[in-house]
Amino acid sequence: MRFGCLLWFLFLVANPVRVVGESRVLAATIFPLGAWLAEFTSDEAEIVVVLPAGANPHTFEPLPAQVRVLQRASLLVQVGAGLDDWIEKLARVSRNPPRLVTLSEHVPLLPLREEGGRDPHFWLDPVLVRDHALPALVEALEQIAPDRAMEYRSRAERWRQELSRLDARLQTQLAPVRGRAYVAVHSAWRYFARRYGLVEAATIEPVPGRELSAKEMTELVREVRRSQARAVVVEPYAFSITAAQVAREAGIPLVTIDPFGSGALPGGYVRLVEHNARAFVQVFR
Ligand SMILES: [Zn+2]
Repeated sequence: MRFGCLLWFLFLVANPVRVVGESRVLAATIFPLGAWLAEFTSDEAEIVVVLPAGANPHTFEPLPAQVRVLQRASLLVQVGAGLDDWIEKLARVSRNPPRLVTLSEHVPLLPLREEGGRDPHFWLDPVLVRDHALPALVEALEQIAPDRAMEYRSRAERWRQELSRLDARLQTQLAPVRGRAYVAVHSAWRYFARRYGLVEAATIEPVPGRELSAKEMTELVREVRRSQARAVVVEPYAFSITAAQVAREAGIPLVTIDPFGSGALPGGYVRLVEHNARAFVQVFR
């Protein structure tokens, strides 16, 4: 039986985005948010991403040492909606808590299918970022440094244009694979899929400590086959034996794509999204 090709799309394992020579610290919970902050700052700010490369944001437990970094931060940006709530605890115990910006409060979120919550993975849609997260970010930056408002606005305008160009490129790039289906282990791709016309046929959210019964597995494999999904998409920090089994039995590849990235460069967000788009195109070709 074909196991399928195991493709690894990993970013360089790197330290947090860090611009040295700082007089202030701007912090973000995950890499894409840190990369957005980097679009606004020049050498005088240090940008710290709290989630280490390769860690699972849904289950991450911050270390006490990270409190020290946050004590120097004037701004802390998080996704919210249940993704990175650990940061709120960390920020509360900080002696000198930074201004906390929860971007998901500014973005129209999709409801989660089951638990009645909201889906936090909005950053994978550059249009949502441009229209909702970016204005919230600019406003927060202006509040902590009103004297730099003009500069932030002009940088925001440039970043808006960059995101529009990114979206246009992705529309073109993904047009030939519109309507194609995939199966996700963790449903991180719904905003991306909605924007670019991909279909999430099913999800295999693993229940910790529990394996699928033979009957559940048979049903899932049947559903996957029926959907004509071309791949089972897994994330690098959340490998799932069940996913591998489903892929094998349905005869489709298991593909690793990273929704969080962990690169370390300004402009890294564009790189992350383009990298992921290429990975999806490759799956569907
Ligand atoms: Zn997630």
